Amino acid sequence: MTSQRIGIGHDRHRLVEGRPLVLGGVRIDHTHGLEGHSDADIVLHALTDALLGAAGLGDIGDLFPDTEAENKGRDSVDFVREAVTMLRSGRWSIVNVDMTLFAQEPKLGVHKQTIRARIAELLGLDPNRVNLKAKTGERVGVVGREEAMDCQVIALIEQE
Ligand code: MG
Repeated sequence: MTSQRIGIGHDRHRLVEGRPLVLGGVRIDHTHGLEGHSDADIVLHALTDALLGAAGLGDIGDLFPDTEAENKGRDSVDFVREAVTMLRSGRWSIVNVDMTLFAQEPKLGVHKQTIRARIAELLGLDPNRVNLKAKTGERVGVVGREEAMDCQVIALIEQE
């Protein structure tokens, strides 16, 4: 008997000058970066929340409070790795993840395959189980005005 669960994650960080832009564990050249306590990688934060949500394990803030000094400037890859470890100890495996990244600039189409491959490697999945879509903000709202970037992730997990 196989049981399956789905989880959803969303994240938003503000764009500021003087910070590196890291999306899905990949450093991307841009004039601005995302502001946050950790490296502010919205893709990995939304992914962590989707995985934790699917397994009923709470959220990223429960695991890695932004009030803790050890999480300052932290590589968000650690958050994903910890979520994957928790899923494995509950005998959950990941079926697939689908992600939508919202950014007005820079154009992310050229980075999609790199980010996808990086996340597939992190999750130990074939890249065809990891999908990434890039959207702009149509020049309206906080994304369109380049004040922030957003990311949405949905994940399916299963347990034999
Ligand atoms: Mg975040």
